[in-house]
Amino acid sequence: MGISILAEQVIAKIAAGEVIERPASVIKELVENSLDAGSTGITVEVDEGGRRLMKISDNGCGILAAEVPLAFARHATSKLRTAEDLIHIQTLGFRGEALASIAAVSRLTMITRHQDETTGTQIRLEGGSLTQQKSVGAPAGTVISVENLFYNTPARLKFLKADETEKRQIMTTVTRCAMAYPGVRFVLLQDGREVFRSTGSGQPGDVVVKVLGLETFRGMIEVAEEEPLRGLAGSIQVYGYVSEPGLSRKDRTRIMLFVNGRPVHDNGLTYAVTQAYHTLLMKGRHPVAVLMIQVPPEFVDVNVHPAKSEVRFQDPAAVFVAVQRTVREAVIERAQARPLRGAAGEGGRAGGWKLPYGIAPDEYVTQREMPLALDDPGQYALQRSSPRTPHEADREDPAARLVDDPDPTAIPEGPGRPQKPRTLPLLRVVGQVGAAYVVAEGPAGLYLIDQHAAHERILYEQFMARYEAQGIIAQQALEAQTLVVPPPEARLLEEKLPALAAVGFTLEPFGTNTFLIRSIPAMLADHDPVEAVLAVLPDLEADKTPGQASIEAKIILRVCKRAAVKAGQILSISEMQGIIRQLERCQSPHTCPHGRPTMLHISGDQLAREFGRLGAE
Ligand code: ADP
Ligand code: MG
Repeated sequence: MGISILAEQVIAKIAAGEVIERPASVIKELVENSLDAGSTGITVEVDEGGRRLMKISDNGCGILAAEVPLAFARHATSKLRTAEDLIHIQTLGFRGEALASIAAVSRLTMITRHQDETTGTQIRLEGGSLTQQKSVGAPAGTVISVENLFYNTPARLKFLKADETEKRQIMTTVTRCAMAYPGVRFVLLQDGREVFRSTGSGQPGDVVVKVLGLETFRGMIEVAEEEPLRGLAGSIQVYGYVSEPGLSRKDRTRIMLFVNGRPVHDNGLTYAVTQAYHTLLMKGRHPVAVLMIQVPPEFVDVNVHPAKSEVRFQDPAAVFVAVQRTVREAVIERAQARPLRGAAGEGGRAGGWKLPYGIAPDEYVTQREMPLALDDPGQYALQRSSPRTPHEADREDPAARLVDDPDPTAIPEGPGRPQKPRTLPLLRVVGQVGAAYVVAEGPAGLYLIDQHAAHERILYEQFMARYEAQGIIAQQALEAQTLVVPPPEARLLEEKLPALAAVGFTLEPFGTNTFLIRSIPAMLADHDPVEAVLAVLPDLEADKTPGQASIEAKIILRVCKRAAVKAGQILSISEMQGIIRQLERCQSPHTCPHGRPTMLHISGDQLAREFGRLGAE
């Protein structure tokens, strides 16, 4: 092929590919245009994940009738005149590419009326070519409908993900814009259903509640700079909400950063947020954050990425320090005021839920955010050794009286139900080490038992036995609690209601992003129902990889893990005896349901050998 200059249509399609990758990119560009137009209300309607239709309506300034076709020309913008303007850019758009790009790869209709004109304009383009233009009556503002995205670029069309994925991306796009602009009322409808709405109250917290859910929001701390930092960092403002150390996630997807009102992806800044939690979160856990970073426009270059989702700072280190410092200070301050968030003493929350199994609930240090709390077990140990309250001392429970039993060797009677055969020898509890391991003695020597792993195994077998026998595994709520979750999670929950019901979580959809919790697995009866549901959410998400365990199986494991005693909990002798007694009758007492060992065994011979006693006679 000889060299020739590409036809305008081809150039347009190539350029469109850079800006418009998927339906969510269309939404992002159009919503940004609506925001730049000064809208106070923006409605986004999407059908079939954006494949069929995306419609964005705003009440912004609109476009002058004479300029409507021009808006669709490439590099046509009202937001920039000279190269110098780029340095002080205040608007979200400035490249003049979005409308041209979207029009090139779809069938697009726009109805717009400028606020200073009396009639509006309707314009229609197909694959970038103008097919219709006429005057129409319309309210001030702009409505753009994008149909059949990528209909003329089959390669792109093929790469579109499943509707659900695209819907989630669109949700993310809209909710991020809503967080950046709390003063704008956003509504998102997917397939005719309202799935998100912000109030436009101007309060960032109001939007964060809508996006992350009230439960999560309650676990967050407001970040506001107390004292400006010195030097360049002083001209950087950081504010928003971040999670307390007790609230975390296994991925970074909930670290949401905005630079001058623009949602951005920036690994460096994400790292700065994570760094602020150094030693406060367990390995592999990440905070939740909604952080606004305000930087003087001349210190940041927003023109480094066609989709404008990345920025370049003149002094990245200064921004890093400002973010890390501000967040750290907020988190530390809160952590000191409430060092034992979620530890014992938050009783009363379990009201209405009956305890299904043998060990008294007050004996548990309920670590509410189970896998995610501070990684310092010593704190829990300390907490438990503090003097008991009169209420605790007066308890009727006979097991509780064994707490200070002078004869720790006594093996208490088992519960009255029929006993399964022993799979372990009879063990005598000697004590506990590290608030994590039970030391026991049996005919064959010394046993060290991981209290959490062992209890997980016990609960798992109990659960499975009941599940297989009668299927009664749920604990009805006396009073149904409501659960409000962020929109993406709500969709996920809705999809997986049957799987959840199969293992004891009965949820009833109850309006937008809200569910009534009718029951939870009986094993979790002394846990907060809302938190119990939240705890299994990540397992619903992780359902994608083929060949993995069913969601039900995963939820069961999660429930057992959550219900089991934790490492870091001081156990009474009777509790330890309870665990050992039940473990002795498990089918597979030697491993936890995740396959880790529950116990180490050191034989009498081995002990003797180690102490140089064997053969020494
Ligand atoms: P950019 O946003 O980079 O300027 P676009 O292609 O997205 O480029 O939009 C081109 C122009 O069309 C904008 O500069 C603006 O003047 C006008 N425009 C687009 N959308 C709207 C809208 N919703 N309300 C008012 N004007 C709009
Ligand atoms: Mg734009």
